[in-house]
Amino acid sequence: MAQATHKYVYYFGGKHAEGKTDMKELLGGKGANLAEMVNIGLPVPAGFTITTEVCTAYYKNKKKYPKELEKQIKDALTEVEKEMGAKFGDKINPLLVSVRSGARASMPGMMETILNVGLNNETREALIAKTKNPRFVYDSHRRLIQMYSDVVMEKAAGLEPEEGKGVRQQLEAELNKMKEARGAKSDTDLTADDLKELIEIYKSKVKQVLGKPFPEDPMAQLWGAISAVFQSWMGKRAISYRRIENIPDDWGTAVNVQSMVFGNMGDTSATGVAFTRNPATGENYFYGEWLPNAQGEDVVAGIRTPNPINEIGKSEHTAHLPSLETGMPPAYKQLNAIQHKLEKHYHDMLDIEFTIQETKLYMLQCRVGKRNGPAAVKMAVDMFKEKIITKEEAVMRVQPSQLDELLHPIIDPAVEIKTKIIVKGLPAGPGSAAGQVVFSANDAVAWAKNGKKVILVREETNPEDIEGMRSAQAILTGRGGMTSHAALVARGWGKCCIVGAGTVKINLHEKYFTVGDVIVKEGEWLTLNGSKGTVYLGQLPMIKAAEENPDFQTFMKICDAVRKLKVRTNADTPEDAARARAFGAEGIGLFRTEHMFYGKNSEEPLFKLRKMIVSNSETERRNALNELFPFVKSDIKGTLEAMDGYPVTIRTLDPPLHEFVPNREDERIKLAGSLGISLNELNERAEKLHESNPMMGHRGVRLGITYPEITEMQVRAIFESTVELMAEGKKPFPEIMIPVVSHANELKHQYEIVASVYSEVCEKFGVKKIPHLVGTMIEIPRACFTADKIAEYAQFFSFGTNDLTQMGFGFSRDDIGGFLPDYLAKKILPVDPFQAIDQEGIGQFMIAAVTKGRAIRNDLKIGICGEHGGEPSSVEFCHKIGLNYVSCSPFRVPIARLAAAHAVVKEMNSTKPVVKKVVKKKLRNNSKRKK
Ligand code: PEP
Ligand code: MG
Repeated sequence: MAQATHKYVYYFGGKHAEGKTDMKELLGGKGANLAEMVNIGLPVPAGFTITTEVCTAYYKNKKKYPKELEKQIKDALTEVEKEMGAKFGDKINPLLVSVRSGARASMPGMMETILNVGLNNETREALIAKTKNPRFVYDSHRRLIQMYSDVVMEKAAGLEPEEGKGVRQQLEAELNKMKEARGAKSDTDLTADDLKELIEIYKSKVKQVLGKPFPEDPMAQLWGAISAVFQSWMGKRAISYRRIENIPDDWGTAVNVQSMVFGNMGDTSATGVAFTRNPATGENYFYGEWLPNAQGEDVVAGIRTPNPINEIGKSEHTAHLPSLETGMPPAYKQLNAIQHKLEKHYHDMLDIEFTIQETKLYMLQCRVGKRNGPAAVKMAVDMFKEKIITKEEAVMRVQPSQLDELLHPIIDPAVEIKTKIIVKGLPAGPGSAAGQVVFSANDAVAWAKNGKKVILVREETNPEDIEGMRSAQAILTGRGGMTSHAALVARGWGKCCIVGAGTVKINLHEKYFTVGDVIVKEGEWLTLNGSKGTVYLGQLPMIKAAEENPDFQTFMKICDAVRKLKVRTNADTPEDAARARAFGAEGIGLFRTEHMFYGKNSEEPLFKLRKMIVSNSETERRNALNELFPFVKSDIKGTLEAMDGYPVTIRTLDPPLHEFVPNREDERIKLAGSLGISLNELNERAEKLHESNPMMGHRGVRLGITYPEITEMQVRAIFESTVELMAEGKKPFPEIMIPVVSHANELKHQYEIVASVYSEVCEKFGVKKIPHLVGTMIEIPRACFTADKIAEYAQFFSFGTNDLTQMGFGFSRDDIGGFLPDYLAKKILPVDPFQAIDQEGIGQFMIAAVTKGRAIRNDLKIGICGEHGGEPSSVEFCHKIGLNYVSCSPFRVPIARLAAAHAVVKEMNSTKPVVKKVVKKKLRNNSKRKK
């Protein structure tokens, strides 16, 4: 039986497309959406998509194509020719095509595009005869030479000329020379004859610079262009972008070959880029930019500063410019209807590209639009209210990092209002930033590596600057619009960015820029307000953005309605507790008692603690503990009160005691005096406390075992505070947590102390019951594997993943800085395991503890209070393995709430919730065994 040939090419056009929107993996985002637009009846120039599989095969097979490809491309081209009524390479009625990349995930400007493929001296004359528009045809031809020689003949051939010496710049120089000679202000002032002459100049320049002639054969041009696009998948900037955005190399790009339509055929032609809602603010109105008599790259590459698409989108900077709405009303009306239809169809904000060729509108692209954090939140909330999306879809519309942007710093308004604006541009990225000026991406990277904050100032937006943009605090450009690459990329990252600040004139050579008579040199400080587009000299003070944003609050409520995990906070003071409540924390997951001995107002309690530490007998120690008691109690009581009605997990003293012994002699003398001992004796006692490896030394529960009176004092403070607050009508709920437990007997020992103090306090205050739980941290590998035994004494577990990571990896928490950068650079580890849970290693300890713990106590409450509790991938993991809550620092609480909601939706959308199944299965087996 003959084997069916593999399909590598998918046609779209007219009323028929072979692909559809959910084929992104194969056709790339652009190809799948072009097909979908045809499917819903929109005007799309016919073309075909070469699949991502071809890209993968091309790189696997030493840059050779599958053998079926050539025929499939020929067949698809014939179909396109039929639809368009023109023939590729024909000397009478020629068809021209564009060749564009299109990966699964959008990578704006990171790969190549070649337009006007198929033009040569012969087809050009045929096109002139057909269009009666020689100027436009010559212009298209010179653009092809410029683009093709740069992308195909130089970049794809692996040539790397010095900065400013590339063929594109050399041809650009020829264009400028001619403009100067003709006294032309802009490109459009050159005549057809000028351009015809320029084409010949270009051709000889290409030959001179690259050593070979420009290809005249249309088919050779087409294959050259296709290969150049596939090559650009492995181009430097595409690789950098993928690394930053975590896009796998083996996804590959598709290539879209599409009939050309022309926005540069005169005053009834135009091109533009638009969004179905404002991508910078999220406001619900059609937003975009256009240019009459231009081709697409003029808008996106920021070569000309474009006009606003409609009246509503005009700002004070663009009020004087003509809109498409008033300039070409019928085309605008049709486009507006299409954008409504698209948003309804896709249920999301879309980014669209269009061209108007002699009044006829064509759609060239649509994709889900990138947006910044504030806009993402607003759109999610609005679309949920408009019933376009469900609550689950709404939460997935905002990434945790975008939520972070809402909490971005802004310039202190009181200072900003008094500061002179040196220049205004278009507000392309949110928040504000200050930094020192640099003029190249390389400098931005280098300066940032040295710990400097930089502002990258560039003439125009250039996707090759990607690493520099990433390293900079903010980006400022002289040219370009809101849809330029820099704006798009910066917005996607939530980075402060201002584009099109037209009066900025850069002197790259001498490294300074001017605006009017202000000169700003490399290294000088600037402050940018990316939300307003304003630039200031110097470093202005910043404040946190307002958290009172009503959309933010509504969005968080939507997340809360979806998530199952509770979110608590790690807070050590009543003030932290109050702040965390405002961020939506549902209790405290970790109150580190020892923090009262650091920082503000800590002098007195610290002194008493030191007395306790250097005590030599139980009596001495008990005396010191009695003095310490009121301080500990008032701290605990204040926090329980601030969290009224919510649980507060109070951990007994954890750090090695010698950390608190004073080093200064005057302090040691004072301490010795208070104990009635000599300095020598005190020094001796301090010496005894010294440990070689304190992290694994006398800390945590071990202190409570050696000195039970320390645990007693703390537990008494907890119970007495609780009883007193209850008497005041409050609802305190303490959870007593014993740290660093590795053996069940340790917990048993402490549990007995808690029980005995409990009875004493009940008796003292005449109460029958004090609500509380007793539990433990799970932060030592041994504890994970003996969690069933530990659970006999623990009513809750809280994973201390900081220590669990430390002891699981054997990486010292304090010393990892010495080798972690190498581990990351050499890809030994994908991420810092102290930031994101190492799921395949440390995560397995956690699963063991959950399984064993719940096998004994199926209502065992389990949470996490290590730093990982606020990191999105770790929160998702905690959800998957069935924890009850995560606990993180106050500022990460909103992010954890969102990540917890994401975890639910991802689980709903996935067919196999692997880990949960594992836990459930193990649980079942264990309970069977017990019976
Ligand atoms: C932990 O180990 O994860 C933890 C929360 O405790 P600490 O960081 O105080 O050791
Ligand atoms: Mg710990």
